[in-house]
Amino acid sequence: MKRVSILIPAYNEEESLPLLYRRLADLMDAQPMYAWEVLFVNDGSRDHTLAILAQLRESDPRINYLDLSRNYGKEAAMLAGFDYVTGDCMVIMDADLQHPPELIPDMLRLWEQGYDDVYARRRTRGRESFLRRRLTAAFYALLRHTTRVPMQPNTGDFRLLDAVCIRALRRLRESQRYTKGMFSWIGFRKHELLFDQQDRVAGQSKWGFFKLLNLAIEGITSFTVAPLRIASVCGAIVSLLAFAYGLFILLKNLIYDDPVAGFPTLMVTILFLGGVQLLCIGIIGEYLGRIFTETKQRPVYFVSSYNGERAD
Ligand code: UDP
Ligand code: MG
Repeated sequence: MKRVSILIPAYNEEESLPLLYRRLADLMDAQPMYAWEVLFVNDGSRDHTLAILAQLRESDPRINYLDLSRNYGKEAAMLAGFDYVTGDCMVIMDADLQHPPELIPDMLRLWEQGYDDVYARRRTRGRESFLRRRLTAAFYALLRHTTRVPMQPNTGDFRLLDAVCIRALRRLRESQRYTKGMFSWIGFRKHELLFDQQDRVAGQSKWGFFKLLNLAIEGITSFTVAPLRIASVCGAIVSLLAFAYGLFILLKNLIYDDPVAGFPTLMVTILFLGGVQLLCIGIIGEYLGRIFTETKQRPVYFVSSYNGERAD
């Protein structure tokens, strides 16, 4: 019998969990030809998530749960999940039921046909603000144009991955993670499924504007050095322009005997160049910061317990 794992990172999801469990149990009962495992990763929740997981485990041995030592963020929680899942394939989904479990049988069918990565693409994005929608589109456009890795827009972490993909993902252990890009980066045979993203069943999204902006910067800086190149190109263009302008002033002075004037032009040039320089230093700093964190080579997460038993 093939073993199917469902990986669910959960952070403060006490309200969604009972609903989620009902839907998953219905699904698992309807598909007895697979051996099921549901692996919850409790990402340092501050509510009763852990207690609810322990209860679920008590009543249903198909449930496993991993308790991280603190809140590491969804990306790290997913890596912890990759390390601990035991299935021949794994489905990653959110705890808030934005990802309909009913899609899983379709994913499994495609997996049985030989696909290694069946990813669900959002047909609609659920309720979202205009600004968030625009910024997301801009981010994907930038990534698409600057990397050689094909990135799937409107695709989240909701997907089925074969064991080969899981083994590959386990080896990508950088601490500043942009997992969505890694799915593309590792390659293997991919297939797309369309779905309608639901609204959250309970609670609030943990991704505020700044967290998303951070993830976007993470995505860009961990998959492309294009900003550095853009900075160099900008520098070259500005220097050329400045040189041409200097020549122009010199000739004007020699030919027309024009007195060199222009405090305002001077100010504008200095301020403009100062701005460009600061921006470029900032971009370099982003990459330098990433090198700094990566060279420390710290583990991405620490585990408190697995199924209630203390990790050593
Ligand atoms: N999550 C997590 N750690 C965090 C934040 C979120 O494990 O620090 C989980 C959360 O419990 C949920 C999933 O990641 O299962 C997606 O989170 P959320 O619904 O807040 O994000 P959104 O759907 O708004 O992108
Ligand atoms: Mg959500």
